[in-house]
Amino acid sequence: MNKTTTFTMIKPDAVINNYTGKIIDHVLNAGFSIQAMKYIWLTAEQAGSFYAVHAARPFYNDLVSYMSSGPIVAIVLEKENAVEDFRKTIGATDPQKAEPGTIRNLYAKSIEANAVHGSDSDENAQIEAGFFFSQFERF
Ligand code: UDP
Ligand code: MG
Repeated sequence: MNKTTTFTMIKPDAVINNYTGKIIDHVLNAGFSIQAMKYIWLTAEQAGSFYAVHAARPFYNDLVSYMSSGPIVAIVLEKENAVEDFRKTIGATDPQKAEPGTIRNLYAKSIEANAVHGSDSDENAQIEAGFFFSQFERF
């Protein structure tokens, strides 16, 4: 099977709580390899643009504030079946519903401050990687 790409962010709560190293270790042990990685503090405008697809949702404004409240780590990952396998590795959006041993089960605080992002499709993985890394810009 060919390797594919997914995109993740270690979110502000996890960075502030010093879970960055543990989460990267977990991701590598799950078989993903790192293609690109960046530590960055998003402005509200950048966070709003990244999550523009959720602009109509009731949680959007809080999400944008939260995602610009502290630094994040943006990472492009590679693995066979990367998108689906990474969603399994992180667990459900709500950490209370995330399977034991998943990253959100282990490290997330709440449905909003849920430790990590994970792309939901191959197409969105490319778009999201291109948001942070010029080498992944779509052509
Ligand atoms: N989110 C939230 N409240 C909700 C649902 C989502 O604050 O009721 C936040 C949460 O940080 C989530 C992000 O919005 O990770 C994007 O939501 P999505 O439904 O895409 O969840 P994900 O794909 O991250 O599991
Ligand atoms: Mg999503």
